Amino acid sequence: MDHLEHSRVVSVLTQQEHNCGSCGGEFDGCSKTMLLQIVRPYLFQDDASGEWRLHFEKQLGEDGDFAHAPYFFHEDCWLETSESLRDEVEGNPPTRLEGSTIACRCNFCGSDVAEGDYLGIVHYGDFRLSNRQPNLQDALEHTMEGGPQYLCTECLFELNVSVLEGLWDEDAGIMNEDEEEDDGEKRAWA
Ligand SMILES: [Zn+2]
Ligand SMILES: [Zn+2]
Repeated sequence: MDHLEHSRVVSVLTQQEHNCGSCGGEFDGCSKTMLLQIVRPYLFQDDASGEWRLHFEKQLGEDGDFAHAPYFFHEDCWLETSESLRDEVEGNPPTRLEGSTIACRCNFCGSDVAEGDYLGIVHYGDFRLSNRQPNLQDALEHTMEGGPQYLCTECLFELNVSVLEGLWDEDAGIMNEDEEEDDGEKRAWA
């Protein structure tokens, strides 16, 4: 995950309200938080080691802002949210994609996520004051710690509709290319 450099993460913070996506509360300067972003995963091979790694491409709208706003959560709020989401998708058979390059699997329902599909990614980290920027509002960094959690589009849909309701505008649409023909009920919204 170290390719998500601090400079880019800080730019997230300067563009968003620093309120919890679940309870709406604020974060104090050293709260443990989770950051949820919508990205597209791509595999690339490391020249030096030959290992395959995942790169996460952020999605920007025409105005240069995030196509789908990133959200921060208090650690406890995300734990509660993720338990509700697990209950919501429990028993759903995981989607298996034939003939696609699989980038990763959803940590909630176990579905395959193809390279280039939309993916929710949750990092664990904490806010801290940056020495580089004197303005408090812009001076929070989200330090990467530990591994991320992945959410497939079905789980993002459930999160947005059943668990938290309205994180993202449904009109903004999150639809993978192979889903444009189906009715978009399960794996996407539009
Ligand atoms: Zn909260
Ligand atoms: Zn899922």
